[in-house]
Amino acid sequence: MEQLHCHGCGVLLQSTDPESRGYIPEMKDTGKPLYCKRCFSIRHYNKLTKVDIDDNDFRKMLHTIGETDNLVVTLVDALDFNGTWVNGLERYVNGNPIHVLVNKVDLLPQSLKPVKIEHWIRRRLKAIGIKVAGVQLISAEKKHGIDEAVNEINRLRKGRNVYIVGTTNVGKSTFINALLQSYGEQIADPITTSYFPGTTLDFIEIALDDNTSLFDTPGIIQPGQLTHYLEYTDFKYIIPKKELKAVGFQLKSNQSLYVGSCAQFDIFTEEPISVTTFYNNTIKIHRGKQEKSQEFYEQHKGELLQPIQSPLPENFNHRKRYELRTNHDKTSIYVSGLGWTTIHAKNIDVSVYVPDGVDVYMVEALI
Ligand code: GDP
Repeated sequence: MEQLHCHGCGVLLQSTDPESRGYIPEMKDTGKPLYCKRCFSIRHYNKLTKVDIDDNDFRKMLHTIGETDNLVVTLVDALDFNGTWVNGLERYVNGNPIHVLVNKVDLLPQSLKPVKIEHWIRRRLKAIGIKVAGVQLISAEKKHGIDEAVNEINRLRKGRNVYIVGTTNVGKSTFINALLQSYGEQIADPITTSYFPGTTLDFIEIALDDNTSLFDTPGIIQPGQLTHYLEYTDFKYIIPKKELKAVGFQLKSNQSLYVGSCAQFDIFTEEPISVTTFYNNTIKIHRGKQEKSQEFYEQHKGELLQPIQSPLPENFNHRKRYELRTNHDKTSIYVSGLGWTTIHAKNIDVSVYVPDGVDVYMVEALI
């Protein structure tokens, strides 16, 4: 049979697997251009479907970006900065400027001033030794800050190509869709063939003018995020849809705090201390005695400590312990992809138990 290619991205068309690249429901050469499912949805609905990649392909892709002069725009999640920062990004982009879009700010408490969030993000970047061209707060879903971001990208790119990079679930597709919707009518044919040399990846090229383009790159899988271990149907229990509400607790000496079955904080203190939690409101927070806390977890995981519906993944039975000591008057301990607990006292020892593979990190509190 004759091999047919997508007129948009050039991929070989197939009509057997709707989830694989190049899918088209009916393979018929009518003489008209044919488009794969992904390109069809971009053309007709201004909607992008996602492509995710593993670390190895991603590294090759980033090397390619570093070989030319361009602007790199990276999206991070306002609720999980360290967990969604692409590690090693600055090395790979090889001196190209990096512009940071902090997405999902609609989920942070609305009482927080944007300037406070921005300064906190800049301190996080400084702490990991990254110099950036700019930082902007956006909500791709609520379409807040999109026009401002486009204007700033245009200013910073100085006539160069733009590459958009980010880990999976930071909202990259939502952002590009918002961008396509705002500018869809001006972009005659947003998609062209593009492959990253040395990889099996394709990326979406959106012409910005006659000579330069914006390239959407595949999402990078960050295995430290809790969501990677859960069924898609359980995301709704973990990922907030509305503004996060802070929930405060007084902890007496040596108590444990359980965040559903997903995390356990053993807090070692003689004096009572204040703790604030920032998790999706469907997750039950439970306080208990530290003594026999492991047995308590084993007995109640997936029941009393239930935030999710599916059987618990295997790594919930093999938890990893992180030993931390708070180093600010208000220190936040993040569980990547889940949320964070803020401890209102310095020099407090905390053991955090999470499913093996999930990242935990500690930073100065934002709130
Ligand atoms: P990608 O993997 O980076 O392409 O991420 P998606 O665009 O698919 O978004 C991942 C999830 O985050 C989806 O459930 C989106 O609805 C949600 N999302 C994306 N942007 C925002 C935002 O600005 N605010 C909120 N609340 N959710 C968002």
